[in-house]
Amino acid sequence: MTVTLPPVAAFVTVVCGVFGLLVGSFLNVVIYRVPRKESIVRPRSRCPGCGTQLAERDNVPVISWLVLRGRCRTCGEPVSARYPLVELLTAGLFVAAALRFGADWIVPAYLVFFASLVAITFIDLDHYIIPNRVLYPSLFIAIPLLVVAAAAQGEWRHLERAIIGAASAWAFFLILHLISPRGMGFGDVRLSFLLGLFLGWLDLRHVFLGVFFGFLLGSIVGLVLLALRRRGRKDHIPFGPFLAAGAVIAVLFGSTILGWYSPG
Ligand SMILES: [Zn+2]
Repeated sequence: MTVTLPPVAAFVTVVCGVFGLLVGSFLNVVIYRVPRKESIVRPRSRCPGCGTQLAERDNVPVISWLVLRGRCRTCGEPVSARYPLVELLTAGLFVAAALRFGADWIVPAYLVFFASLVAITFIDLDHYIIPNRVLYPSLFIAIPLLVVAAAAQGEWRHLERAIIGAASAWAFFLILHLISPRGMGFGDVRLSFLLGLFLGWLDLRHVFLGVFFGFLLGSIVGLVLLALRRRGRKDHIPFGPFLAAGAVIAVLFGSTILGWYSPG
């Protein structure tokens, strides 16, 4: 398959990829420090093994990790492969957003959305929480970007749908939370507002699809872990990562999937 991109779209895609590596590097800081209630601005990154501050050249996304072969320059302690993986994942999602939307005013908003989902996924995996200190700043940046995109496109229909999507998803998850507070944490309810906003922007079918894929992935992984006896029936599996993955699938492939089912 060959994909021919117009020059502007190709440029946007490359810029998004490089920007994604840098944002991924920042997300590593967010993922480590936010649950520990530390500042994400200061001090500079340190090696968790020996506490040495990382020099500029040892803080280049992916490349530093490869050059140092996954070890600290000072103490030789292994540095988790998760750091470059988060950077590559973020870059991949940013490129995917650029390819999905092209050179469009909506791209910045979806970059914020995807970055937020990466941070939420890894924090939830590590700590079983979806922190407000990630969720609220994301909404605070994303909502004005959606308004700007709607104004620039002269098209407010998407924004209306986004608000309806956010309210519907939030109400649905709130009901699940009230039925089973242990099964569905309130962090997931808050996250559903963010998901509903961005999936609703596309249309309400995307909200349904995203939530559906979230539950599908969660059930499959839950059953596999149960079958492998890696977890007991009562152990907690964080749900945020599955909701995030479902949302990404719906954003990137929702229109294609929905196309299979609509006549003509
Ligand atoms: Zn070290």
